[in-house]
Amino acid sequence: MFIETRGNDGQRDVKVEFSYAIMNPSASFGGLYVPENLPKIDLEFLKKATKKSYKQITLDVLELFNIDIEKSVLEEAVSLYDNFDEKENPVPLVQIKNNLFVNELYHGPTRAFKDMALQPFGHILSHVAQKQKQNYLILAATSGDTGPATLDTFANKENIKVACLYPNGGTSDVQRLQMVTEEGKNLKVIGIEGNFDDAQNALKTLLASQTFKDELEKSNIKLSAANSVNFGRIIFQIIYHIFAYVSLLKQNRLSLGEKFYQIVPSGNFGNALGAYYAKKMGLPIEKILIASNINNILTDLITKGEYDLRNRELLMTTSPAMDILISSNVERVLFDKYGASRCKEIMEELKEKKHYSLSSEELTELQKDFSAVYCDDDFAKETIKEFANENYIMDPHTATCLKAYNELRDKDIPSVLCSTAEWTKFAPTMLNAIKSDKVTYCDKEALEGISRSLHVEIPECISSLFDKEILHNEVVDKHDIESKILEFIK
Ligand SMILES: *Cc1c(COP(=O)(O)O)cnc(C)c1O
Repeated sequence: MFIETRGNDGQRDVKVEFSYAIMNPSASFGGLYVPENLPKIDLEFLKKATKKSYKQITLDVLELFNIDIEKSVLEEAVSLYDNFDEKENPVPLVQIKNNLFVNELYHGPTRAFKDMALQPFGHILSHVAQKQKQNYLILAATSGDTGPATLDTFANKENIKVACLYPNGGTSDVQRLQMVTEEGKNLKVIGIEGNFDDAQNALKTLLASQTFKDELEKSNIKLSAANSVNFGRIIFQIIYHIFAYVSLLKQNRLSLGEKFYQIVPSGNFGNALGAYYAKKMGLPIEKILIASNINNILTDLITKGEYDLRNRELLMTTSPAMDILISSNVERVLFDKYGASRCKEIMEELKEKKHYSLSSEELTELQKDFSAVYCDDDFAKETIKEFANENYIMDPHTATCLKAYNELRDKDIPSVLCSTAEWTKFAPTMLNAIKSDKVTYCDKEALEGISRSLHVEIPECISSLFDKEILHNEVVDKHDIESKILEFIK
């Protein structure tokens, strides 16, 4: 069962099932749903897992959670991992240095790690909607990776329509093309005049608008969101951390029960939360090392116990998926560490005063599981170049992890860093890094430039984007979003 991070308001059920939590993700007082208890995995589980496939381990972990979704539906959902590059090995673990490994989470259809969770989640969500005989409109706002992954998973799914908002000019060409060429009668992609904050604010306004909900009701449609705070996504983000350990065991990099560092490039903290839950469940993680860019709000929280939005503005970096100041999933860790009433107090303080401070005991508690450091774009680019020279290509988000690797470890044990996107999604930055220049390349020439310099192929799903028909070419003022969506619904 699932309970709420800010306690119960007396209007909602105190405990809900998984299917309820994923269809209605906002809990009392604006909180989130969290599992009442986390299941345990022991060394025996991990030992047996070395003989199992990624899909089977996923099903085993889901079974421990005992959620209210039929086994056959879960099996269909995880079979979507068969569409990843290597059917038998959807998440390769690659050694790049003596004791440093990369967990490549981007081998899915849209080339970013969002597919790891959104692929199976989309299947489950559509199944629950069909079972309820209810139609849903899923709203998404994206700075680049969530949009393509959301559209891909829901394309042509029953009982689901998707409206996806992106900032026109605010994504890479590849990311935009992935969205505007996506086929599916149930999909609407809308560019808006403005930045990601404008897109996100428009989405929040619609989610909260009663008149919008009433209009949808007339067409018998309910509103929901598939953003990264949905527990239906988080549950799938626990598994690849477990699988990384299983891969280390299989490759004889450590023996059963020995610990490792998990390094996570973080934005909204979904990926890191998955690692935290895995650790609590019993995965031998020494510590979770959080990597940020210069939007270093998470580093401040974890090193100083301060979360301070005053006098801060969002800075644009070459790791845009981590350009975030309100990191939503941190709330679940705060709840887990300090309980519902303190969590509610902290979140209200953040809303009203734009900052909060942890007590020194609370900070000590947080630092038992997490360390953090941030890097700037120059560091990321130098890192990309250094590894490219040694024949490993990593994207700008993944590169931020090397700073954490260099500075935050105090034991010589294996480290696994999460690689969250393929280089092809950020080709202009990649080419700037490799050539040490500051030229403004367009995506197509940058893709070709990297392909030539590093002798790598551009995957077909990326190169073919440039020849596809544009199916969604609307770019609207933010005041016209609501009417555009209603037009689409009707
Ligand atoms: C979404 C994303 C992140 C941030 O992940 P969170 O779970 O939000 O912390 C990092 N890198 C890439 C490429 C992403 O798409």
